[in-house]
Amino acid sequence: MAYGKVKAYYQDELQSIQQEGLYKQERFIHSPQGADISVEFPPKAPLSEVINFCANNYLGLSSHPEVIEAAHDGLKKRGYGMSSVRFICGTQDIHKELEQKISTFLKMEDTILFPSCLDANGGLFEAVLGPEDAIIADKLVHASIIDGMRLCKAQQYPFKHLDMNHLEKKLIEASEDCRHKMIVTDGVFSMDGDLAPLDIICDLADKYDAIVVVDDSHATGFIGKTGRGVHELKGCMDRVDVITTTLGKALGGASGGCVSGRKEIVELCRQRARPYLFSNTMPPVIVSAAIKVLEIISKSTERRDKLEWNTNYFREKISAAGFVIKGETPIVPVMLFNAQLAQDFSRDLYYEGIYAVGFFFPVVPKGQARIRIQISANHEKEHLDKAINAFTKTGEKYGILGLSKNEIIEKYGS
Ligand SMILES: *Cc1c(COP(=O)(O)O)cnc(C)c1O
Repeated sequence: MAYGKVKAYYQDELQSIQQEGLYKQERFIHSPQGADISVEFPPKAPLSEVINFCANNYLGLSSHPEVIEAAHDGLKKRGYGMSSVRFICGTQDIHKELEQKISTFLKMEDTILFPSCLDANGGLFEAVLGPEDAIIADKLVHASIIDGMRLCKAQQYPFKHLDMNHLEKKLIEASEDCRHKMIVTDGVFSMDGDLAPLDIICDLADKYDAIVVVDDSHATGFIGKTGRGVHELKGCMDRVDVITTTLGKALGGASGGCVSGRKEIVELCRQRARPYLFSNTMPPVIVSAAIKVLEIISKSTERRDKLEWNTNYFREKISAAGFVIKGETPIVPVMLFNAQLAQDFSRDLYYEGIYAVGFFFPVVPKGQARIRIQISANHEKEHLDKAINAFTKTGEKYGILGLSKNEIIEKYGS
């Protein structure tokens, strides 16, 4: 039994993760996803009723009655599983319908579904780029893009986060001996809630003959006047070549992702993308519910409008209470800078009935610890007020209200 020796090694590894304070512990939710949830904090705490501020349920559609009904309907009419990848016998009429609806919503030529956006990003680059090509990507793109770029043989030219001068420099470098150039960025970056300047990126792409790929997972459904995403907000809907996005966040939150864009690129993904060719098709239940989600958000902007109101309200009030925040989206990082402070603060909020997680190194850089709040259209004003009160009470306890970044760091270290 070789495992005896290996076991001790793995136990050591796990222990050192624990000692570095990086051990991730799951909490169990005993209710559907929503603004008010019932949470078990293992090993032995009683169930707590808390307000959820850490789901990607931006539009509040994860447990929406019409979406649940559409899921039941899909289950009844198209069955539970397909037991096949898409190209053998895993494509139903509703898969094509969903692809069509996503294309229309994002104003793209065509769309291909993947089991997740991680898979979309894992399949895209290898399918369309070779060693003669170049990827010029923001340094803070999502982990799944990093993985996808590693899987393809294109040359890599990373540019500093949101730094357009540096992007231009890298485009010039890549122009020297590359066949095709592809600029890659997230639309909204999930840690700071900041936005890519897509209009400027598209200008640079034109100037240096590059195509533009945007991962809009934290934007699709609610950023921009009608919720199409960052390309709508920045006025460049016809200039972005490819959008990758997820059905696992604002769009119902179950699972699934896609590549949406120029039809030749989508078609090459259908021919070559490995997660599409070698992983099971999206189940009819989710496809049917996702079609309903797209109908809901195409018909009315009511939910994204409420989310925008909620976001502005919360950002205004939390700043006025004396906290340092970042970004400009429903992702609101409340900056505490010190990792221990972020952990203690999150625990105290939890006992006040507010579920919001602390983020610290290695998820964010050292000295950048924070509580990350995510606002939802499911939040009512009372939910937001409760959170602001709990933040204020806890902020008073730690004596950080009204302090600047430097003053907090002076007090607690970074
Ligand atoms: C969440 C996220 C993903 C992964 O989406 P899944 O569908 O859950 O795999 C990919 N990219 C970005 C930017 C994300 O925020």
